[in-house]
Parts: sequence; structure tokens; C-alpha cells
Amino acid sequence: MIIDIAADPAAGITSAVEALGRGAVIAVPTETVYGLAADATNEAAVAQIFEIKRRPSFNPLICHCSDLEMVSAFATLDPVSLRLAERFWPGPMTLVLNSKPGRLPPVTTAGLTTVAIRIPMGFSNGLIRAYGRPLAAPSANISGRVSATTAAHVESEFGDGVPLIFDGGPTKIGVESTILRVCENGIELLRPGGLPIELVEHAAGLQVSAPNLFKVLAPGMLTSHYAPRAMVRLNATRVGPGETLLKFGDAIVPGEGACARVFNLSPEGGLEEFAAKLYATLKEADDAGAESIAIVPIPDEGLGLAINDRLRRAAAPRTLTLGELEQAAVRSKEAR
Ligand code: AMP
Ligand code: MG
Repeated sequence: MIIDIAADPAAGITSAVEALGRGAVIAVPTETVYGLAADATNEAAVAQIFEIKRRPSFNPLICHCSDLEMVSAFATLDPVSLRLAERFWPGPMTLVLNSKPGRLPPVTTAGLTTVAIRIPMGFSNGLIRAYGRPLAAPSANISGRVSATTAAHVESEFGDGVPLIFDGGPTKIGVESTILRVCENGIELLRPGGLPIELVEHAAGLQVSAPNLFKVLAPGMLTSHYAPRAMVRLNATRVGPGETLLKFGDAIVPGEGACARVFNLSPEGGLEEFAAKLYATLKEADDAGAESIAIVPIPDEGLGLAINDRLRRAAAPRTLTLGELEQAAVRSKEAR
């Protein structure tokens, strides 16, 4: 069931708190993408998230808190992390912090001694505050697929598998959070996202490095993620007759007059608008039966870093995701 929270936000929070309290998994809007949320301290509830999403159990979840006081109950903040937290929370930034032992079940953190934490904005922040405990909330999509940025997308992904979907309209940022880890030599970027690293460097007075991020982008090593059903072709400088084109700005792309369909995500050429509309557009193209999606080059700066990261994964060779492999193993065991 989709519940419109704009009509009565307080009633939305009351019913969400009730559902979380009985260990349910619910879908909630955040400023980045929609999340599949459960009480991060409830082992059984968190285990259900992994099952619903078909997410491999070794991939830990982000714990969403309402404020720094709640964060401090679960993790320790070093001085640089604290500076970033004060500057960018609530907002689209996740910090990997040393966790306080015994506060979260191993299912949430995949048994690590660190925990990924974020303070989100808007409805989800008010909800966590009212609930009084952190929420584990990965993106509301089957593992490996395009993240949901609308309540309708969540519903089409899970059907009755997620009985309560709180609808706060399309998400503002449209890509997942930027994940950072402060280490001895500076700040490490674990995932580019909704907070541009230029802003992080400016606020911290430190360089952000990405030692492990682009290694996996070597051909053949990249696993498919954020992937629509259609094939994805990047850095397109022309578009073929049967293709669907995703572009921004007002330049004409050669071939666009004769291609299957053109989506201009931002006629003004803004990367923020492109990011905000990206996942919904990929879904719309998929639903319309697109076979191949050509995407114009996106500059690697600001939100472009996150957009290019997602697009490279969307264009990666398709193999079964680990979640799908696990499901297939369960099915074949059941069949025996
Ligand atoms: P999602 O919630 O699906 O957007 O993804 C959360 C991301 O955070 C995944 O890529 C995780 O691997 C990453 N993550 C969560 N916890 C940790 C941690 N303790 N250390 C490093 N990465 C983490
Ligand atoms: Mg995700």
C-alpha cells in the first residue's frame, strides 16, 4: 500500500513507527533515493531486508540516524569525521566509522568493526527521531537493479513484498550518498554520490583519494549494478536508428532525428537535474521496451563523478548478481 505523506506527515510517521516497532520492513523516501528500512538493532527485521532485496549477506547496510547524539551511541567520530558531520549532515554523505562494540547486530554491519552511518533529511529524519533508534536502509530495489526514486517504482519492484510504502514524491537528489572513510593519510572515497567531493575537500582542507574505487573498473572486473534491462552504451557522440538517447543541454546529437526516443534530462545542462532524473528515466525507457540506451558523455566533475560511476556499472557486462546466484541456489535446493 502506498501512503501519501504529504497529506498528513504526522499520521505517516505514526504508522511507520508502529510498523518498525513490530519488526516490519517499510519503504521510505530520503533526499537521495527511496530506502527499504528496518530497525537497525533488530536482527530479524534486518535479515528480512537482505531477503527482500536478494542482497548478499556480506554487503553491510548503512545505518541512518536522526542526529549526532544517536550517532555517538553507535560509533566514534574522529575529529575530521566530526567536522564533515557538522558541515554536511543531514545530507547525502555516509561516513564509515569505528563502531562501538555490541550495539548493532552483526547482520547489519556484516560482522565488521566499522559501521556506515548517515543522517538523512526530511521525512526519514523525522521518522528516526520519533522512533528513537537507527534505521538500516539500503536502496529500495532488488540487488543490482536501478534504485527507486519514486514510490511507484518501489511498488513495481516489490509488489506486495513491501506492504507499506511511504510516498514523499520523487527524491530530490536521485543518486545514492557519497561514502567516505577518514583514514590516517586523509579521506578515502568509497563511493561517489550525491555530495560532490570538491565540497568535501574544501570543507575538510584535505584531499579525497579513491585508491580502490577505480581499480574495479578494469574490463571484465566490473560487476553489473544499477542496471536497466536495456543495454547501455556510454559516451555516445551519435545515436543509432533503434536506440533511445539520454542527453542534457541543447546540442543536437547526430542521429537523434531518426532514433527511437530522446530524453533530455536537463535542457539547461545541469548535472544536478540529470542525476535527479537518471534512474526514473532508465526505468521509463525500460518500461517502454527500449533495447539499447545511448548516453552522451558526462563530465567527471561535481555530481558527474557519481553519475559516471553508476553509468559504468549500468553498462557493465551482465552476469548474474550474487543475490540472484544465492536465490538460484535456494531454488535448486528446494527443487531437490
Ligand atoms: P546501499 O545502502 O545499498 O546504498 O549501499 C551501502 C554501501 O555502503 C555498500 O556499498 C556497502 O558495501 C557500504 N558499506 C556499508 N558498511 C560499510 C563499512 N562498514 N565499510 C565499508 N563500506 C560499507
Ligand atoms: Mg543500492
